[in-house]
Formats: sequence, structure tokens, C-alpha cells
Amino acid sequence: MSSLQLENQHQSLDAENRWLRQKLHELTEEARLSEETFRRCHEREVSLLDAEDLPQLLEALTAGLQQSFCVPAISLVLSDPDHELRQLLTISGNSAYDRNRLIFVDRPATFSPIYENLQHSRLGPYLGEEHRRFFPGKDVIRSIAMLPMIRRNQLVGVLNLGSQNPTRFTRHHATDFLDRLATIGAVCLENATHREHLVISGLTDALTGMHNRRYLQKRLNEEIARSRRHNFPLSCLFIDADHFKRVNDLYGHNAGDSVLREISLRVWECLRASDVATRFGGEEFALLLPQTDPEEAFKIAERIRLHIADTPVSLEQGTDLAITVSIGISYLTASHCEDAGKSLLADADGALYEAKRLGRNRTFTTAQSDD
Ligand code: GH3
Ligand code: MG
Ligand code: MG
Repeated sequence: MSSLQLENQHQSLDAENRWLRQKLHELTEEARLSEETFRRCHEREVSLLDAEDLPQLLEALTAGLQQSFCVPAISLVLSDPDHELRQLLTISGNSAYDRNRLIFVDRPATFSPIYENLQHSRLGPYLGEEHRRFFPGKDVIRSIAMLPMIRRNQLVGVLNLGSQNPTRFTRHHATDFLDRLATIGAVCLENATHREHLVISGLTDALTGMHNRRYLQKRLNEEIARSRRHNFPLSCLFIDADHFKRVNDLYGHNAGDSVLREISLRVWECLRASDVATRFGGEEFALLLPQTDPEEAFKIAERIRLHIADTPVSLEQGTDLAITVSIGISYLTASHCEDAGKSLLADADGALYEAKRLGRNRTFTTAQSDD
């Protein structure tokens, strides 16, 4: 082989070597990116699976994913034809959700025809006319990804991601990871809904449909913390039916049950949505009235007392029964420090005892000297 031939062969080996190095570098980079993508997808899935309850899951699906995807706009459109999800959020004290990010609809396909037959994630340019309703108040979006949450062949929701970058979401991007994420979201949503129902059924009184004492304990600490944080007044009412034992003795236990149901209904009729009404046990009801000072609480208590006393309860056997209740009121003060919830209830119970002692069918407010 001549020296020229050797030189040529050397050059071509050199070029091939450089090309192989470049290729290796590209493949390593690709593998690194894939690994990075995989890691991020895994993290997102774990954030959904880790959510402990429905409000936390909805937060993870909206604010959490928005942060993880680093997008300026996100919304979750959820199918909620019977208002079941909204009701669960209200009952668990989470009705103040972000209405731009969480959109409840009767049927996703009615909300937007784009959702009709949405089987896989759809990525592409943002079209103002068609997509504006997915991101209320945002108009700088250039590309969009719609991830259908499908469970048992039903579209239960759609997760919409909006980017300012026109090439962030395009038809050419792979959608497997997004489909998978949305499916996991749908399963988590179903589980969280079931769990929430179970929790609520354990916090509800079967006879009256009111919340029970366990629920009161749960809300008590939340309401005390809220009222201290915002410096709002908080009042507590203890309501006890007068001489209720006689109702059972004279008309039977079933009649007694009907009277308890009627009392709870009348209590409900006098309250606002933010009030917490519970059957504390037996013929006793405990109420928490947030943002209510003792004077206002007294007016509400009197309204309840008269609403019960003024109209007799009609029993099934045709008897009209005059029912009265006694009410004790306490209110949160600086003196309620350690275990404030317990002492707030104890004060209301003490006031109720006074109302009974003074002759029943009356309201008594606890005496407080140090507020
Ligand atoms: P007071 O005016 O002092 O409160 O007298 P009272 O008779 O209402 O109070 P007492 O504590 O002596 O009796 C309460 C009665 O409530 C006794 C109990 O059988 C009845 N009771 C408690 N829970 C239920 C219930 O779920 N259904 C019925 N029908 N009665 C109940
Ligand atoms: Mg009692
Ligand atoms: Mg009683």
C-alpha cells in the first residue's frame, strides 16, 4: 500500500471515528433526556398517588402539575352531573376552590365539542375561539395539550395545559406518558371520591342526616384556628329538647325519633351555609357559628327556639305535640387557651344547664369576665 493510500485510509478511519463519537454522544444525550423525562413523569404520577384526600388530589392535579410542567395555564374540567364532587368538597369544608383551574360541568362533551371522542391526549396550536374557555382570563397561550381522564370507558375529566411556547405542545410529540398520567389521575379521582364518601358516612348521623359528634370535633379545631387567624368571633350553641324522655314514654320511641328529625329540620331552616350543625348525641344538638358574636348568636338561638316552640310537631298517629328546647351559648375568648374546643363546648353545656335550671324553653349565654 502506497503512503498516499495509507494516508487516505487513515483520514477515512479518523472521520468514521469522529462520526461514531458524535453518534455516541447523541445517544448518551438522548438516553439522559429520556431518563430525565421518565423521572419527571414518575414524580408526577407519585404526586397524584400520594394525595391523601379529594381536595389534596385536586390540588395535585391543578397547582401541582402546573408547577411540574412549568406552564402558565392549567385547568381541570371535571364531569359532575349530580354535583357529587362539589357536594363532597362543600361537606369537607373545601368549597372555596380556584374556579379558573377547576371547572365542573354536567358533561365534558357539552362543555366543549372538542372533548367528544377524545380518546388520547391531543396536542397542538392554541386556537382562541375554541380553547379560550379552558383557560379563563389567560390570553397569552400559544400551544395546548388536552389529556383525557378516562375510567371504564367514560370520560370523567380533561386536564388542559397551556404554554406560551408555540412548539411546547405539537402534534409530533409523543403522548404515551401524558395518556398514562391522565389515566392514573382518573383512577386516583375515583378512589378519592369513594374514600371521601366513606369518611363522610362515618361523620353523619343516620337518624337526622346531620353531622355527628366526630365531625364536630374535626371542625371545632379548624374553626377555632380560622377565627383566631382572622380575628373573627366564633359562637357555639348547645340545644337540648326539654322533657324529651316523656315523649318516648307517652308516645313511643318511633314518635321520639320523628320529633328528633323535625327538630333537626327546624334547626337547619334557621342556619346559614357556613354554620356547622351537628347532632351531639341523644336529644342534644351542638352548633358552631363562625363570624358570629354572642349578640348575633343569641338572636339566632331565639329564632331556633321559637321556630320549634311556635308550631307543634305532628306525629303519624295524628297527635300534635308541643315541643320546646333549651339553648346554651358560649363564644370563643382569649381565656380559651389549652384545648379551646373542649372548654368552648363545656361553657355551652354550662349555659344550657343554666337555661334548664331557670325553667327550660329559654336561651342562656355563658358569663365571661375576661374577654
Ligand atoms: P331535660 O329537659 O332535662 O333535658 O329532660 P329530658 O327528658 O329531655 O332529658 P333526659 O336526659 O332525662 O332524657 C333524654 C331522653 O332522650 C332519654 C332517651 O331515651 C331519649 N333519647 C336519646 N336518644 C334518642 C333517640 O335517638 N331516639 C329517641 N326516640 N329517644 C332518644
Ligand atoms: Mg340531654
Ligand atoms: Mg333533654
